[in-house]
Amino acid sequence: MDYVLTHATLIDGTGRDPITDAAMWVRGGRIAWVGPVAALPAEARAVSEQDASGRTVIPGLIDAHVHVCWNGRESVLELVKRDRDLIVLEAVKTLRRILASGTTTVRDIGGHDYVEMALRKAINAGFIAGPRMRTSGKVIAMTGGHGYFIAREADGPDEVRKAAREQIKAGADTIKLMATGGAATPGQDVMASQFTVEELAAAVQAAHALGRTTATHCHGTGGIKNSVLAGIDSIEHGTYLDEETADMMVERGTALVLTLGVANPDLTDVPPAAQAEAKRLEGILDKLSQRMRQSVQIAQAKGVFIGAGSDAGGNPLAPHNFSMARELELLVDHGFSPLAALSIVTRNNARILRWENELGTLEPGKLADFVLLSADPLANISNVRAVEAVYQGGVRVWPPAETLLM
Ligand SMILES: [Zn+2]
Repeated sequence: MDYVLTHATLIDGTGRDPITDAAMWVRGGRIAWVGPVAALPAEARAVSEQDASGRTVIPGLIDAHVHVCWNGRESVLELVKRDRDLIVLEAVKTLRRILASGTTTVRDIGGHDYVEMALRKAINAGFIAGPRMRTSGKVIAMTGGHGYFIAREADGPDEVRKAAREQIKAGADTIKLMATGGAATPGQDVMASQFTVEELAAAVQAAHALGRTTATHCHGTGGIKNSVLAGIDSIEHGTYLDEETADMMVERGTALVLTLGVANPDLTDVPPAAQAEAKRLEGILDKLSQRMRQSVQIAQAKGVFIGAGSDAGGNPLAPHNFSMARELELLVDHGFSPLAALSIVTRNNARILRWENELGTLEPGKLADFVLLSADPLANISNVRAVEAVYQGGVRVWPPAETLLM
């Protein structure tokens, strides 16, 4: 498989200006060369050409925070009671939707009974279509902590260490812990810290010793600070980030994974099953989204390393429906340029997933994961919804070839 995509506008994800009338040479599933058509190497002129005039090429989007086992249309509290086989089958559909929206890689950061591990194997084996996956296995929460209904509950450094090792044994790339209360767990205080620094540090040591990363769910400032002190790699949400903690994050290289979509849900299209939950969450999310705006400003001003995730599936108001497009729209709404926002969800997220050697930018040597858009996302970021085709490793995976439907 060897071809050259020509005459497209190409955004490479590095933050550099787009290349107009660009060519991208794909050879053996990887990018061999990128640049203006006029500068195409002689060797590439002999391979088959795919004319992409009028299209914009962007790197495949990466979702750094998603829950593929849950449909984002019903409460996780209810879904856990569902038959496991049904959860698996629905997740297969969800993974295809994620891919069709231009997201070629995800980090599942709170799974169910290791279903997500089996799904990843099925994708890697070519049984089903779906994004490349990093997984965390079960979230780790203190007894009764946030998301206890899907968590491995653990208390004290020794037990937390063991819980982390269990997830790694099951196939986890990253360890996810709940460092504060959360909105999706009824009756919780999002400001309250959960886990001590010592408990979090035990998980960090266990993970780092085996080459894995760590991430914590954090709303309140105390939980963010505890996480940074413990050496956590990425703070998820980071709603009540303050200046002092932002400085600590910069100093220690802690990443912030924004999840703006989940704080700003689309309440115009709430399915009947989610009406009650929407009512309960409305007041809480209103407050969180206002404070989140402040956190984003602080993070930007201080130069915190920023990634982004949809948190789709995490609650019934977070559907798997162009959720990273929505995240991009909200990043722009929160003050990032469309070009910067695209780098956050490609290059930066690849680094957070420790996959930057192969993914995240359209540069020679990287895997050819890219999206063809029929409209320019720099003119209007919502044009990332205009997905015409999605490629993984140079192969078109959306729309699917007919043989894939058999
Ligand atoms: Zn989440």
